Amino acid sequence: MDGARSVKCWCWILQSAYTRTTPLQFSRVAEVYENIEATTKRLEMTDLLADLLKHASNEIIDKIVYLTQGRLGPTFSSVEMGIAEKLAIQVVARATGKDSSAIQASLTETGDIGETAELLLEKKTQSTLFKTLPLAVLDVYDTLEKMAQASGTGSMERKLGLLSGLLSRATPKEGKYLIRIVTGNLRLGIADMTLLDAMAIAYGRGKEARAVLERAYNISSDLGKVARILVDEGLESVSKFQVALGSPIRPMMAERLSTPEEILKKLGGRCMAEFKYDGERVQAHKDGQQVTLFSRRLEHITEQYPDAVELLQRHLKAKKAIVEAECVAVDAATGQLKPFQELMHRRRKYGVKEAMAEHPVSLFVFDVLYADGEDFTLVPYLKRHGKLKEIVPVEERVRTAQSRLVGSVTDLEQFFTRAVEEGCEGIMCKSVNEDSIYQAGARGWLWIKLKREYQSEMIDTVDLTVVGAFHGRGKRAGTYGAFLLAAYNQETDTFETVTKCGTGFTDEDLAKMKEIVDRHKIPHRHPRVESTIEADIWLEPSVVIEVLGAEITLSPVHATAMNAIREGSGLAIRFPRFTGRYRPERSAEDSTTTLEILGMYQNQLRKFNRDKQGTSTMS
Ligand code: AMP
Repeated sequence: MDGARSVKCWCWILQSAYTRTTPLQFSRVAEVYENIEATTKRLEMTDLLADLLKHASNEIIDKIVYLTQGRLGPTFSSVEMGIAEKLAIQVVARATGKDSSAIQASLTETGDIGETAELLLEKKTQSTLFKTLPLAVLDVYDTLEKMAQASGTGSMERKLGLLSGLLSRATPKEGKYLIRIVTGNLRLGIADMTLLDAMAIAYGRGKEARAVLERAYNISSDLGKVARILVDEGLESVSKFQVALGSPIRPMMAERLSTPEEILKKLGGRCMAEFKYDGERVQAHKDGQQVTLFSRRLEHITEQYPDAVELLQRHLKAKKAIVEAECVAVDAATGQLKPFQELMHRRRKYGVKEAMAEHPVSLFVFDVLYADGEDFTLVPYLKRHGKLKEIVPVEERVRTAQSRLVGSVTDLEQFFTRAVEEGCEGIMCKSVNEDSIYQAGARGWLWIKLKREYQSEMIDTVDLTVVGAFHGRGKRAGTYGAFLLAAYNQETDTFETVTKCGTGFTDEDLAKMKEIVDRHKIPHRHPRVESTIEADIWLEPSVVIEVLGAEITLSPVHATAMNAIREGSGLAIRFPRFTGRYRPERSAEDSTTTLEILGMYQNQLRKFNRDKQGTSTMS
């Protein structure tokens, strides 16, 4: 290396070491959030994040990651900020010296408590000679953590004191994001995958790093931890991440097909068919007598299901294990399965005992990911299934999912009919080939679902992400009249519009929808949303609802599967109707995918051609 280049290189190293060791100010974070909010370009969003991560010291890198996700820790940690709007109003009032009614009035205008905080802090700065002291990220994080941990008598006052103290030191822009973070309204809509991309750019070695980071994330569900190990110890250490009790593994998901023929062909002529129970997915971690339950979204739900905990404590024949099961509501008298909606009674913090007696559950265990020191995530399915049978006994309320190894269409059809007769949604067909590992965090063709509705005249129900809303008129004035819904494109990690839905909502639904979606309002189309339609209100992709349509058609306006069938056309769902089923247990990325919609369209076309042939032979 020549002298000048060597000096330049050293300067760069020293400068980056300097920027990473000087405490990062929260103003910088707020500025990056503002720029992210303003951009409609995905790559720009990633670069902004990568730049922010580059400036974070080892001590705070995980904290930056969590704050950017609007949290203080991974989803499964129990540190929750959850500040209600009412309390936030008091915080803003105390920090700005205004009374609560003034805050409320501003809130009615802005519709966003973060913006209200910004406006009122601006007024305060203008009207006084008040100068704020710089606010370090570490300061912000520590105070928020103290606030989240405050409990018991006097905790409200303590929370109020800590937060208003922080807010009164904040600049208007910092205040806006602080308040949004604590009320759970950050609305940046940054995908986990975008954060992983940003980490790879900032500290990894490009593509090679990306795969390692993703595997570590998939088995730990903790982006902050991945970032911290990456900067502290390097990529080599990240590649050695292990499945661990207490850290949920990101769930594997299924693709869908609509006929047994297609399924068997895809899976190489044989598969393990299992009942597809209609309940709530739980991932149970058993460590001695301690059992922890995680939901599909990786939140702690242990307290919700003391009966399920006891069943596993009593019957699971492994000291340490991670298993996945469907938790299903059952009729206490007959033991018959009840529909998913019944489980809603169990989604509560209080009155758990009463709900448990009235709405008991059974567990159908369908996978094992870890058992007594052995990681099963990379083991083929038949071996996992064997282990499962070994550790799960057949008890009245806990057993393995009904299964059968099948190699013919007739067998698969018979098994499907039995599943439906016994109150299941359909069946899950699982690959039994050598490569049939547990694909943590991925939706792939190793599991294929065949659901009841697929065989009816109507098209299937689909779970779609609400990405926009349209103001209601007439009777619906004041609420939204329709919603712009999107499918998820896994390859591009974007949401592509597929329909506009205004049917099937009762008045209560409309009020509820307004309350839910307003928390995700953003000023322009989100960079991860593909749409040629202009919504009145744009939303961060977050809320998922179930919709039933009449058919899928080619559409010049909707973005789903654009150009896949015909140049210039996407696919749309015609006559969509909300089924009344909200899907809070699903994240936006769990929505029906673009590929699934494409498959449904092709299937419909085949059926149409078959019917046409039938009619022409008859005539
Ligand atoms: P879906 O929610 O329609 O995408 O189907 C996948 C879900 O089916 C999983 O997340 C589980 O909650 C549920 N399920 C029910 N029975 C099984 C089973 N035997 N194997 C895997 N998943 C199952």
